[in-house]
Amino acid sequence: MISFDDTRVAFADKTTTELKKAWWLFILVKNPRLVKVGSVLLNIANSIRLPLRWILKTTVFKHFCGGETIEECRDTLDKFSDSGIKAVLDYAAEGVQTEKEFDEARDRILATIELSRTNSNIGFAVFKFTGIARFSLLEKFGNDDTLSQKELDEFERIKRRADDICTNARDAGIPVMIDAEETWIQDAVDEIVENLMEKYNKESHVVYHTLQMYRIDKLYYLKKITEEARIKGYLPAFKLVRGAYMEKERERAQKMSYASPIHPVKNATDGAFNDAVRFCLENIGNIALCVGTHNEITCQLAAEYMAENELEPAHEKIHFSQLMGMSDHISYNLAKAGYNVSKYLPYGPIRLVMPYLIRRAEENTSVAGQTGRELFLIKKELKRRKEEKKKS
Ligand SMILES: Cc1cc2nc3c(=O)[nH]c(=O)nc-3n(C[C@H](O)[C@H](O)[C@H](O)COP(=O)(O)OP(=O)(O)OC[C@H]3O[C@@H](n4cnc5c(N)ncnc54)[C@H](O)[C@@H]3O)c2cc1C
Repeated sequence: MISFDDTRVAFADKTTTELKKAWWLFILVKNPRLVKVGSVLLNIANSIRLPLRWILKTTVFKHFCGGETIEECRDTLDKFSDSGIKAVLDYAAEGVQTEKEFDEARDRILATIELSRTNSNIGFAVFKFTGIARFSLLEKFGNDDTLSQKELDEFERIKRRADDICTNARDAGIPVMIDAEETWIQDAVDEIVENLMEKYNKESHVVYHTLQMYRIDKLYYLKKITEEARIKGYLPAFKLVRGAYMEKERERAQKMSYASPIHPVKNATDGAFNDAVRFCLENIGNIALCVGTHNEITCQLAAEYMAENELEPAHEKIHFSQLMGMSDHISYNLAKAGYNVSKYLPYGPIRLVMPYLIRRAEENTSVAGQTGRELFLIKKELKRRKEEKKKS
């Protein structure tokens, strides 16, 4: 059993002031009404470009993001490195719309890949398709709608951007994770990512596909792709997550009168996630796995399955990953126990990272139990430090 309770390890790189700030932040995001009103106000402020930079930069942005540029992320990169944790530099700008912005996003991702050549503490590159592609075009493609010649050309440019990222990642010797998004664009994303895995994963696991296990169909999909990969002769790699768009998915399904693609209850999502972890570990000869979760039970189970299958903690094809600002008790204690751990380190201009920040706040509200756990652990560590100070 791994203990996630060692708060000295979990918060080793946090000052007491930072911990107190984090405590207040989690107290605030625990309040659903406040988060709802706050999100609406932030969206309005963002769209009319109110100067909220300073307030955001020193609070919520500082907690969940590394900085506005790669340079500003250096401190966090070094702190992760001191605790044996790799960084996943994530250019988290969202809502970009123009070809120029998509090219710019690709260039930023290429810059993180370039940096990984000289900084061995970058574990993975990462991108999401809505950062390099127009949402409505992905949706249209996924619906099998006929595309005009102009749209077909645009779609080719999207594939080329993704291909450039994967070529550079392969040449730099760093794997690249491709995030999963809303179901109504995910069919298009799945198709492109499957082709990229087939092209780039012949000898090693370069491209990691993300599977959202809150989706009813994804356990079947995992097995199907694994079998297809065997037949086509490539190595499948998966990042497993539960999924971040549950409410949006359910609302849309209800509004448009189709069956929700999401498991009806949390238990079913948990069961699918754990089954998927077990399946990947049993097939680790071919598959590479990244367990992307803040769920202690899942991490505990994954560690148990690894032991059952005689897979050492530092197995090169098995990684655990969490997001910056969340579940440090899991990341730092897993790393201390010798597991491969990475943390997403989002960065980008505050205005463009806002949707990511709002999602994190909403997520921490809806996962009330987990927020309670974060608060409990921060409080425990603050108390421990106070007592230690008294003694010395
Ligand atoms: C490293 C990393 C990478 C990530 N990448 C992505 C990504 O590419 N795409 C993406 O969508 N998300 C991504 N996420 C977010 C992830 O999908 C989850 O939203 C988040 O991690 C919370 O799930 P959990 O497993 O950590 O925690 P838990 O608290 O155990 O699970 C919460 C999750 O369970 C599911 N759930 C909650 N209630 C119900 C219910 N009533 N019925 C059914 N299911 C329910 C939801 O998915 C919810 O987010 C990532 C997370 C991490 C840590």
